[in-house]
Amino acid sequence: MQWTCPIRVGAERHPESQALTFGGRRWTYRELDEGVGRWVAALQSRGVKAGDRVGLLATSHAAVVHLFFALGRLGGVLAPLNARLTRAELQPLVEDVAPRFTLALGALAERLPGAVPLESFADAARASPDSTPLEPNTPRVILFTSGTTGRPKGAVLTEGNFRASARGSEGNLGAHPGPRWLGTLPLFHVGGLAMLTRTAYDGGCLVLRERFEAEDTNRAIDEEGVTHASFVATTLERVLEARKDRRVPSTFRLALIGGGPVPAPLLARARAAGILALQTYGLTEACSQVTTEHPEESDGRTAGRPLPGMEVRIVSPEGEALGPGREGDIEVRGPTVMAGYLNRPEATRETVRDGWLRTKDMGMLDERGRLTVLSRRTDLIVRGGENIYPAELEAVLASHPAVQEAAVVGVPDARWGEVPVAFVAMRGGASLPEDLGAWCRESLAGFKVPARFLSIEALPRNAMGKLERTVLRQRALST
Ligand code: ATP
Repeated sequence: MQWTCPIRVGAERHPESQALTFGGRRWTYRELDEGVGRWVAALQSRGVKAGDRVGLLATSHAAVVHLFFALGRLGGVLAPLNARLTRAELQPLVEDVAPRFTLALGALAERLPGAVPLESFADAARASPDSTPLEPNTPRVILFTSGTTGRPKGAVLTEGNFRASARGSEGNLGAHPGPRWLGTLPLFHVGGLAMLTRTAYDGGCLVLRERFEAEDTNRAIDEEGVTHASFVATTLERVLEARKDRRVPSTFRLALIGGGPVPAPLLARARAAGILALQTYGLTEACSQVTTEHPEESDGRTAGRPLPGMEVRIVSPEGEALGPGREGDIEVRGPTVMAGYLNRPEATRETVRDGWLRTKDMGMLDERGRLTVLSRRTDLIVRGGENIYPAELEAVLASHPAVQEAAVVGVPDARWGEVPVAFVAMRGGASLPEDLGAWCRESLAGFKVPARFLSIEALPRNAMGKLERTVLRQRALST
């Protein structure tokens, strides 16, 4: 089985429909197809051929979109690197990838000696019509996990993974002719790349932004006919805050919320504001979404059911499959599961067994097959034998009217083995109120109530807006 580049397919079927907008410019499928052709020629003139890897250090930019599809047409592999990393952090990743060369956007080139400028890469090229059929099972992208739980590992994803992800998402959300996805997730993370490929496979338009900004997101929703968007909990929070009472236009269909714990009250607030916000659960190793709520039966309490074609099971630490209502480790099987980790056969064997991806997340399925994500296994706090899931405490703390955001981590304790410590940022920078313990005790069992509350200005987050718990753990140990 082989496929044609979805931009070429779009150029043949609906050449004049919009494919991409960025920085005030627009591309139809015909124009993008032609532009990608120029990138194919530019890559060929640098000697890129099937199987070659090309590194990329860039924030979101139209050139990244061109590069991504052009490499696909040559059978090449893109290795996008996190644009927030320092020179020292980038070096081992580049060594791991061993790219033919690395393209870098603007001043980011200073962090990678020998990097080739991205913006002008294809300027002088004449479009090449070459388009090798896309092979489902050959590597397409090497994507490093964000490393919140250790050294980043390069997940090798195939075109088959991206296509299955796009099809599965469409199967769950329903086909919308010509969706316009707002692209504010970085393209060096799986969420951003899956959005890019999903839009192309659906014949839609990617409304790409260099970065997330709340007011700009609202402008895109109100004025640019955006139909879909993806957020993490903090960015949704900021969008809602910036919207105030502005009505959401009917053109905007839904937002996917995932990437970390998603408090149900936040989704309820979004819905009250007119935004259908659906919880989703996914990870790099499974090419983004694994489960997502169905638009017609969502209540924000679970992360929904597996996308069509995907399977999820819950297993005990001994590997026994557990029934509905039982808490255990989440495992995932299906066509979006990665080919493996780059240069790490051992880690690959440990992570994917008999096709089942061991996610290192804990969760529970209900009778209807909907998944509740409880915690990363490493974030689980075990106090005197009782399990405490940080997300549950965080949701309770965040519901306190004076609290802006909160995070809970476990620290070693002589008596209990481990106890939870809460970091709390107050609205308007106020000092911690006296009643936080009492507030928690009202809705949580006593053993879950944090042993200490520590004030923090803002929670440490990575480029995706994800909480960096290791930073907090270290801080909790030193204060
Ligand atoms: P690393 O694997 O290097 O630690 P990471 O955790 O950021 O990095 P990603 O693949 O970017 O890896 O993110 C996937 C993780 O995000 C999941 O494994 C899970 O822990 C978390 N996550 C995603 N969706 C949800 C959700 N709906 N609820 C709770 N957690 C979620």
